[in-house]
Amino acid sequence: MSMSTVQSTLSTLKTCQGDINTAMDIVTEVALDLVEAQGRDDDQNKLQGMMMECAKLDSDMTCFMEAVQTVTAQVTQDPDVILSLKSSFQTEFEALKSRVSDLNSHTKVVAFKNSVKKILDQEKQSEGGDDEEQDEEITVTQSQPNYTCPLTQVEMVNPVKNRKCQHHYDESAVLAMIQRQQKNHKKFRCPVVGCGNQDVNPEDLLPDPILKRKIQAHKRQNSKT
Ligand SMILES: [Zn+2]
Repeated sequence: MSMSTVQSTLSTLKTCQGDINTAMDIVTEVALDLVEAQGRDDDQNKLQGMMMECAKLDSDMTCFMEAVQTVTAQVTQDPDVILSLKSSFQTEFEALKSRVSDLNSHTKVVAFKNSVKKILDQEKQSEGGDDEEQDEEITVTQSQPNYTCPLTQVEMVNPVKNRKCQHHYDESAVLAMIQRQQKNHKKFRCPVVGCGNQDVNPEDLLPDPILKRKIQAHKRQNSKT
């Protein structure tokens, strides 16, 4: 197998991984629809099971690709490695997998659980308050939701929330900025005015499916009028 075959296989895997991530977004969407429609708990559990399976696949693929890259680099340095290619790869792959501690901390799984819980909590609260008018008033006086990304200044498409300072950005914009700063060996500061967070990292960013739904609903409403 030539190196270019390895490279093209890796890029195919990357595409697959993108598809898995999309699948996880869809599962989250369905779960939130279900919670809002007060679906059955066992359906909810099935969806959570699907999320965990996707997280496992996603994590295994990351380990697999890293192992391939490490072993390929070893071969370039020392051609003799090619004789024990399979076992070097196995060792590397298993080592990487053992370092994955808990799939429950996969960002999409965390976001899934948080969002489901948030909707359930909101429902409990609205059930508890018999004075609906008052509830509405409170919602209006709360600060208007901000759908604009502080980086692009346009409405977000894939909002992510910084778990350190709680600010939101559009995923692709913030990742691009972090990458750009990293290339210049600089930290990326949170762009929100007055925020003291001097170092934004990809690990701090959690998808926010609830906000995403709100933005989509807002968009639909705007296109109607
Ligand atoms: Zn911030």
